Amino acid sequence: MYLTCSNSHQMVASQYMIEQAKTILKDVFGYEEFRALQQEIIENVFRRKDTLVIMPTGGGKSLCYQIPALLFKGLTVVVSPLISLMEDQVQQLTALGIEALVLNSTLSYDAYQNNIARLMRNEVRLLYLAPETLLMQKTLAMLSSQQIDCFTIDEAHCISEWGHDFRPEYRQLIEVRKRFPQAVCMALTATATPRVQEDIRQSLCFEASDNFIASFNRKNLFLQIVQKTHPVEQTLEFLQKFPNQSGIIYCLARRQVDELSEVLTNAGFSVKPYHAGLSDHERQQNQMRFIRDDVQIMVATIAFGMGINKPNIRFILHYDLPKNIESYYQQIGRAGRDGLPAHCLLLFSYGDIQKVKYFINQKDEHEQRIATFHLNTLVGLAETDECRRIPLLSYFGEHYSVSKCGMCDNCTEEAQALVDVTIPAQKFLSCVKRTDEIFGAGHVIDVLRGSQAQKVIKNHHHALSTYGIGKEYSKKQWFYLSRQFIQKGLLDQDMEFGSLKLTPKAWEVMRGNQTVFAKLTVSQEKHTEYEETEHAFDSTLFELLRQRRKKLADDANLPPYAIFPDKTLIEMATYFPQSQEHMLRLHGVGLVKYEKYGNLFLELLCDYCQKHQLEDQPKRTTVPVVTSKPKTLTKPRHIVVGDKNNAGSTLTELREEFNVKLSTILDHLYKYHTEGYSLRHSHEFLELSTLSPERRIAASKAFDQFGTERLKPIFDALKEQVNYHDLHLFRLYYLTKPGTS
Ligand code: ADP
Ligand code: ZN
Repeated sequence: MYLTCSNSHQMVASQYMIEQAKTILKDVFGYEEFRALQQEIIENVFRRKDTLVIMPTGGGKSLCYQIPALLFKGLTVVVSPLISLMEDQVQQLTALGIEALVLNSTLSYDAYQNNIARLMRNEVRLLYLAPETLLMQKTLAMLSSQQIDCFTIDEAHCISEWGHDFRPEYRQLIEVRKRFPQAVCMALTATATPRVQEDIRQSLCFEASDNFIASFNRKNLFLQIVQKTHPVEQTLEFLQKFPNQSGIIYCLARRQVDELSEVLTNAGFSVKPYHAGLSDHERQQNQMRFIRDDVQIMVATIAFGMGINKPNIRFILHYDLPKNIESYYQQIGRAGRDGLPAHCLLLFSYGDIQKVKYFINQKDEHEQRIATFHLNTLVGLAETDECRRIPLLSYFGEHYSVSKCGMCDNCTEEAQALVDVTIPAQKFLSCVKRTDEIFGAGHVIDVLRGSQAQKVIKNHHHALSTYGIGKEYSKKQWFYLSRQFIQKGLLDQDMEFGSLKLTPKAWEVMRGNQTVFAKLTVSQEKHTEYEETEHAFDSTLFELLRQRRKKLADDANLPPYAIFPDKTLIEMATYFPQSQEHMLRLHGVGLVKYEKYGNLFLELLCDYCQKHQLEDQPKRTTVPVVTSKPKTLTKPRHIVVGDKNNAGSTLTELREEFNVKLSTILDHLYKYHTEGYSLRHSHEFLELSTLSPERRIAASKAFDQFGTERLKPIFDALKEQVNYHDLHLFRLYYLTKPGTS
């Protein structure tokens, strides 16, 4: 109907629509505000423009089609690849009083007929289907008698052969789409790869302008990477911080999953295992228990996580190294979908790298190169001393311009002073030399600390002049130092065997021509502050509310989050609402939910508050103004670096002066440039890169075409043949080359 309106009519209609969408947001879903891009997307869909939505997991994609579905007169058809996801959605929508249903082949005859009858009576707003079901003749025939206003393709990356989850049936959706030309089409995915995005657009004939790409920064995830020293103890210690909360522990191997779940069960934690070696039944049971909060912790291989929508996962622990940054991001992305803080800890060890390396070596040469590249970027993320979001987001081609996120270990640990460790470095390096550069750090440290280990004696290393000259540091400290020596380019580590070799730079240090600065103390895992500040609520009351929710959920055969999300309970335990009016102000409390469950919670609240003499503290509905932090008086690092570059310092000099990696200097310079300062052209931008002349031409063209903001499109355009380090260098060359304004 909006297509036939005049322009001014359209404007009025569109404003009216926005108002209605906001009312639905509050009254039905119980949410105060739209999240980033949601409103724009809804408006676009409502203008009947095909829309591609790229948002990270937890970004709030579902609302983008669910709200239009409530505004459209006709039906919204949603195609989704996983039955469990569809059923979860329908349960949640039903709990909100929205008419939604799933049609699939596992329904009984009666249930199926009943659903069709509801559809025919126009009672249904959203119909969820697997592509196979949609493509069946009888489904298509049935739909042809319906007015379909919106055709939604969820998990749209399944359409692309470049994606990680290609489904051939998805390819045929374009035909279905043509059958319903009046329906606006929406495609949604959390896949960040531009190649896949392009594929979706092309397959569905979308216009380029109707893309909505949200940032992939998940602000509420606290990122931490520590060295794996005593994994079991580290795990136990970590879990202490999350009593009664849900989380996932990822392990590489099934055996590890079984062992660790046994250890944790014996230690009194509520744990279930999940891996492909268990029977279907057992896997389903364990997953269900987790979703329903009957079990708190899943110890799992990567087989776990697809198709679960649980919003209140509070931690992800990577017991082993993930395969690459993409899987790391996907796995941590399962935490904190509800927007509350969640903690992601990765235990990182060079031993694990060797395991991965071993698997890589089984592959063919081309695959090996790609896998090695992925591994190295992951190691880069682990070793960085900058904000972890910088390398993480840059992997997805996103430039993270805040220099401290405040939500990763590197940003919250007090900056540790660098101390002069030239002498210990000399000791370590000469010990590497004297043991013939064929051993890993562990053995070198044993020799330095005068260990009686068999390996030392057998190799006659107790007779070396470096034997026992390093007793002043603990084993842990030496390990920490040795990693920094590698990072600083004094040592090369053989990826396969872990053995250490001296670099030319090491010789400079041993000859006394160069000093070495490093950190001495190993960073401690610690409680982050947000945990204490964000959770200033009555925890006894919260527990009681949780128990009530659990009972209601079990009675209704629903997961607890379908009754109310955790955030709602936290708000109840913060504001002590004791009336309908105040209850309706809370996050997640819409009219239907209030009618269904409001009184049951009010009862409990009134009782508790009376007993403890707690007063209702009505939640203010306007968003409080955040007072800005005092500005720091020192110049930001990127400005200092940029100014020095302009004053003539070379990249190598800058690197040494600031004692950081070249990539860090490049990031500073790029940031300097993006903030509008002009940057001196340096011949090193080309010299330090390994680009051949042909590749330079290709890279220039790609930058001409895709712009310089994101590197991922360039990386893809160059067929993944040029590494990011070179791209960072070349981008600076491109931006500053003589003749460019
Ligand atoms: P995605 O599909 O992108 O992974 P979901 O649609 O499942 O994300 O949304 C994640 C969570 O955020 C859900 O619990 C959802 O109800 C909630 N949510 C979505 N939009 C909003 C909003 N505007 N305000 C508050 N919560 C929201
Ligand atoms: Zn950070």
